[in-house]
Amino acid sequence: MEKYLLVKVIGEGSFGRAVLVRCKSSQEKYVLKEIQLPKNRSKLENSRREAILLSRMKHPNIVAFREAFEADELLCIVMEYCSGGDLLQRIKQQKSNQFSADNILKWFAEMCAGAKHIHDQRVLHRDLKSKNIFLTDNGTIKLGDFGSACILNSSKAYAHAYVGTPYYVAPEVWDNKPYNNKSDVWSLGCVLYELCTLRHPFQASSWKSLILKVCRGAYPPLPSHLPYELQYLVKQMFKTNPKDRPSLHTILTSHRVSRLLRIHL
Ligand code: ADP
Ligand code: MG
Repeated sequence: MEKYLLVKVIGEGSFGRAVLVRCKSSQEKYVLKEIQLPKNRSKLENSRREAILLSRMKHPNIVAFREAFEADELLCIVMEYCSGGDLLQRIKQQKSNQFSADNILKWFAEMCAGAKHIHDQRVLHRDLKSKNIFLTDNGTIKLGDFGSACILNSSKAYAHAYVGTPYYVAPEVWDNKPYNNKSDVWSLGCVLYELCTLRHPFQASSWKSLILKVCRGAYPPLPSHLPYELQYLVKQMFKTNPKDRPSLHTILTSHRVSRLLRIHL
């Protein structure tokens, strides 16, 4: 802790808090996420997993890991500071002023590149949502918050008790099937839809009707002025059977929108 000076608290959650700090020697700003370490051994492993999995990622569209250490029953993860805030805040700032198709495609391409890197390491993020996607000062997308991430095919991938916001959860997860790489693709589809409309694709006044809409894949159509490629992408990403959904590799390479996306990478 002596290495860093606290600048301000930027986020508070059940885990602990996220604080903006400045490194005393380099003067660089970082985010330090403090996680209360549980006494229970298996829970302790869960908390440490976030730091371990983030440290394995090295990609321009993933928040860069700097270091992690434990002090006074706290796990501290030091990472790159994204001064542009999160994408949810950015969407809210728009009020009802839509993003341009170019802007949407650029951000979406960056998200897919980051998420593909995660999947290439055989890791699932499992909590992709606009609040966990950050922007740098020059407007580059960085995926963050690996607090729910897990290694693909581990038994933990099955035992995922969902506690966060339900809007981004894929139909197979509600159906108690294992979380897989396509479930992350569904969540990114939700973020893409949010960028296109400034609304969630699946919304309802009760959990029951929300889950029904998700499982039917029933969402209001995108505004017709948006390019065909975006309409097509959303439709593919919201296939209710995960096998029919494209992987990130497919979206970025063989998909018919890949050329449009790659312009931005
Ligand atoms: P939680 O598990 O509480 O969702 P997050 O890792 O998402 O934890 O961090 C909580 C909040 O702190 C985020 O929603 C965001 O506002 C802020 N935050 C976290 N990491 C960063 C970062 N690297 N750069 C900027 N803000 C961040
Ligand atoms: Mg978060």
